[in-house]
Amino acid sequence: MKIRRTKIAVIAAAAALTLAGCGDAGNDDGDNGDGGSDGFSPEVVEDASFDDGTRMAEIAKDGKVKIGVKFDQPGIGFKSATSDTPTGFDPNMGKILAAKLGIPADKIEWVETISDNREPFLQNNTVDFVIASYSITDERRQVVGQAGPYYVTGQQLLVAADDDSINGPDDLKGKKVCSVTGSTSIKTVEEQYGATPAGFDTYSECVEQLKTGSVDAVTTDGAILAGYAAEDPDALKVVGEPFSEERYGIGYNKDAAGMCEFINTTLEGAFEDGEWEAAFDDSLGKGGIDLPETPTLDPCP
Ligand code: GLU
Repeated sequence: MKIRRTKIAVIAAAAALTLAGCGDAGNDDGDNGDGGSDGFSPEVVEDASFDDGTRMAEIAKDGKVKIGVKFDQPGIGFKSATSDTPTGFDPNMGKILAAKLGIPADKIEWVETISDNREPFLQNNTVDFVIASYSITDERRQVVGQAGPYYVTGQQLLVAADDDSINGPDDLKGKKVCSVTGSTSIKTVEEQYGATPAGFDTYSECVEQLKTGSVDAVTTDGAILAGYAAEDPDALKVVGEPFSEERYGIGYNKDAAGMCEFINTTLEGAFEDGEWEAAFDDSLGKGGIDLPETPTLDPCP
């Protein structure tokens, strides 16, 4: 049921974005570059207090927090060269977490994470949280904490608009498919569909490879691909049904006691008080993607 909903949502999104003929999901969304945002701004808790010795207490005391997000994925996590702050569903979720720690958006330090450095950035405390289209997996949970999910999507394919040879993952055998090193996406096409993978650092690099004809397709989560297709609907299209389930989680350092409970409580609250929906409406929703069903959170370990 969940997969079906996501499927419909992503297809609808691609269609809506294509019709609109604009990449609104990736625009800077009224951010005036002053470090704050005119868009989504959740209410900041005045007197946030946490048990002594916890990472939450330290962050609240410091009054600042470091959050790793993507900078090149319109609608999910995107920062233009001229803007100080990223926009998208993931940064919005970061603002919700920060607000519950008593930290306003202009005290968040946004750090660009690529797929391959998410675990090390959490392990060596380069960032406090990773909110970066970061699927929850058992393998990742061996080395980092992942709370959630706060969003569920599924892997799809992006191809040239005039290509009718690739319509789903079964057409990928022997094809050159671009994806990102350290992602679940590259593993899935290589291991399950016999594609010849081309691994890059970012999906935007993959999109460039596709546009120059160096690869036959790009693969990753439908919600990410919809953003790229919307930016260039004459050249690119998303094809086929989702062929995986990607449950986006919030990454944290595994040693941070009580962090999972804090994140889950914050997510539950945001599901209930409308902030999660507002965060979505301000980002992926603007690109025409339907609000998904509220996800069910995994219990904390
Ligand atoms: N959600 C998938 C993952 O975490 C693909 C997207 C990404 O690489 O950020 O690997």
